[in-house]
Amino acid sequence: MLKQVPHKIYLTEEQMPKQWYNLRADMKEKPEPMLNPATGKPAVKEDLYPVFCEKLAAQELDDTTRYFDIPEPVLDFYKIYRPSPLMRAYNLEKALDTPAKIYFKFEGNNTSGSHKLNSAVAQAYYAKEQGLTKVTTETGAGQWGTALSEACAYFGLDLTVFMVKCSYQQKPYRKNVMQTFGASVVPSPSNTTKAGRAILAENPETGGSLGCAISEAVETALHTENCRYVLGSVLNQVLLHQSIIGLESKQAMEMIDEYPDVIIGCAGGGSNLGGLIAPFMQDKLLGRANPRIVAVEPASCPSLTRGRYAYDFCDVGKVTPLAKMYTLGSGFMPSPDHAGGLRYHGMSPILSKLYHDGYMEAVSVRQTDVFDAAVQFAKLESILPAPESSHAIRTAIDEALKCKESGEAKTILFGLTGTGYFDMTAYDSYLKGTMKNVIPTDEQLEENFRKLPKVNG
Ligand SMILES: *Cc1c(COP(=O)(O)O)cnc(C)c1O
Repeated sequence: MLKQVPHKIYLTEEQMPKQWYNLRADMKEKPEPMLNPATGKPAVKEDLYPVFCEKLAAQELDDTTRYFDIPEPVLDFYKIYRPSPLMRAYNLEKALDTPAKIYFKFEGNNTSGSHKLNSAVAQAYYAKEQGLTKVTTETGAGQWGTALSEACAYFGLDLTVFMVKCSYQQKPYRKNVMQTFGASVVPSPSNTTKAGRAILAENPETGGSLGCAISEAVETALHTENCRYVLGSVLNQVLLHQSIIGLESKQAMEMIDEYPDVIIGCAGGGSNLGGLIAPFMQDKLLGRANPRIVAVEPASCPSLTRGRYAYDFCDVGKVTPLAKMYTLGSGFMPSPDHAGGLRYHGMSPILSKLYHDGYMEAVSVRQTDVFDAAVQFAKLESILPAPESSHAIRTAIDEALKCKESGEAKTILFGLTGTGYFDMTAYDSYLKGTMKNVIPTDEQLEENFRKLPKVNG
């Protein structure tokens, strides 16, 4: 008789990866370079130094080094909450009556409640190593701010978090968690920066956006001594740190003789998806395997499925370098949708390039359909998923149902990026039946495309 795969597959601490994997090293066609907006030329390390600390600037621009050693102090912190489990969703499979095998990598087993801690620890460590005393950042849903406050408390750094105003109002306890770890939290747009004041003057009632909070955090870092800015998604360095998700997943699947046919992840700025798929995409790029890879985004903020592949600013205030990515335009203000972590106008340049070149697919899903899946999953697997993560659950369920029709016993792997304890306002509106699906019209998108910066190439 076949031995049954256990519900949870854990690596030991010793088996945990000691290096991050840089997917760019295996891409024959590299992502387009970041541009310095002042010169229109590819950014060099020195252009990034005022904003990022040096080691992170180097990682950001490195397209060739395949593996980076994880520094010992980062590994020590990782061991507090990693390795994270790979889980088999037996109950969900049974309820769907599907021949598919559904696995998920669960990143919600830490206080920040998401995968974001994987990069927060690394970024705080490098800042400390360089002798900095402060960092600034933005947070949308609050997971990144929480993760970074944990990391900054551990390494002894001051932190100011600009929190998107609608999240600040929807999730007051998130703010308290960050404050518990010692961070100062400012609702964005705020009147503490030029960028914030400009946005408030134009639209005093705005609930804010990630792009706007980024402008405020960058501006503050530039004007504060011994301070740099850190970002929780989109950047190449963040995808590098998040590769630990995929490396652990692949190793755990090998232990049970499995390999995914389909890999699914939600995509906001692309960091969890980029990390989850990294070693599998390597197989695909090197012709060793050919799994399908699916990015899932909200219909309210559809950068891959309806955006343009173009150079754009990473923030509304236009203070960041230009990145070539799928974008809705840096001025795009998504509706105050509940999946705060997916409300970003752009997408990782690495994933944008891979998507553009046909290595992955993308789908967009409606919020109410996402919550149908979240509630079904919660009841069956006894985990309260974050709204962001539930986008991946929705698509995993849809794929499993297709397998039921076709009779194919595919192996599905999806990323369960976090838990939803701070998202009860969203669950509340879903359960009351007041949740709406706000989807931008083509005209609204066009208006923002017209404002994309003009860049040659
Ligand atoms: C931030 C966040 C996301 C989206 O960010 P990516 O960079 O696209 O991974 C997804 N899930 C959770 C729980 C998050 O906190």
